[in-house]
Amino acid sequence: MAPETTLPEPVNLTDPYAHNDPAPSPDCDVCAELVKQGREARESGDLSKVTDCLVEISRHSHGRRT
Ligand SMILES: [Zn+2]
Repeated sequence: MAPETTLPEPVNLTDPYAHNDPAPSPDCDVCAELVKQGREARESGDLSKVTDCLVEISRHSHGRRT
């Protein structure tokens, strides 16, 4: 099920990234990977996976640098 170059319909729905940016830590490889996975999932239209990635990022607590 490879995504085609054209979308089946315009994406006018709420953009999860635009409205729920959890601000991943730039120093965290896990967050970086989750952001990447989330973006790839969004490009392939898998919005439930996008949400999963966002939730994981928001739950990924690093604490402040000590
Ligand atoms: Zn993290």
